[in-house]
Amino acid sequence: MATQRDDTPPRSTPAPSLKMTAREVKVRYGEKEALHGINIDIPENEVLSLIGPSGCGKSTFLRCLNRMNDSIENAVVTGTITLDGEDIYDRQLDVVQLRARVGMVFQKPNPFPKSIFDNVAYGPRIHGMTTRRDELEGIVQQSLESAGLWKEVKDRLAEPGTGLSGGQQQRLCIARAIAVNPEVILMDEPCSALDPIATAVIEELIDELRRNFTIVIVTHNMQQAARVSQKTAFFHLGDMVEHSPTEEIFTNPRDERTQGYITGRFG
Ligand code: ADP
Repeated sequence: MATQRDDTPPRSTPAPSLKMTAREVKVRYGEKEALHGINIDIPENEVLSLIGPSGCGKSTFLRCLNRMNDSIENAVVTGTITLDGEDIYDRQLDVVQLRARVGMVFQKPNPFPKSIFDNVAYGPRIHGMTTRRDELEGIVQQSLESAGLWKEVKDRLAEPGTGLSGGQQQRLCIARAIAVNPEVILMDEPCSALDPIATAVIEELIDELRRNFTIVIVTHNMQQAARVSQKTAFFHLGDMVEHSPTEEIFTNPRDERTQGYITGRFG
């Protein structure tokens, strides 16, 4: 039997869709401008690392992405940030909902002084995601599984979250963020308080989480950025100097400030 020839042109891989965008984002703390107009696209299901010397505005920018700067009294944010094309600074927008969609994990693991179970169940409870105990248990288990912690804690869910090791606590905080079904997870130096082994576990986890979430991570560790992220943005003195595929930024930086930083000339 003659085989039919397929004349359709090979399909190219579709460009990933943009989960978030920032346009001309400026932040002032009182008189002092900390970000001078940041423009960046954040594609879905990728990890974006923000690197740069201390005080250059990485955390400030990260906090813009879920309006955490709203709670800093003297901070003024201007410009436009979108999530799925919607302006997240729109007055109509519910900030509590936004922070469920764009979750955050902090530098120091900060579990609540509650049981492991209640730490993860906290978000689903306050967002009224379910009133059924079995469903809640399902969400808690799934979140702990996604955070790579289930096997280690499944027999001690009633014990305090604060009794876990540092690395486990950070994975518990990741599970807590995951439990409310976020689309984006922001991580502000999530491994800086952890030892190298716990750090490696979190880095592997970040790579897995990318399948279901979009991740933006601030890190002062360039090797970490190289290991975990597809894109890297280099910040310097409140500007975003360069934003490229991670491999490119570390092997062939375009700007001499980036080059100076990654070769350790300053930082
Ligand atoms: P990075 O994360 O790169 O270390 P930050 O975003 O923390 O940088 O800080 C950027 C600049 O904004 C720094 O000069 C810092 O001192 C200033 N800054 C950060 N937070 C505040 C704040 N709450 N009030 C006043 N200035 C701040």
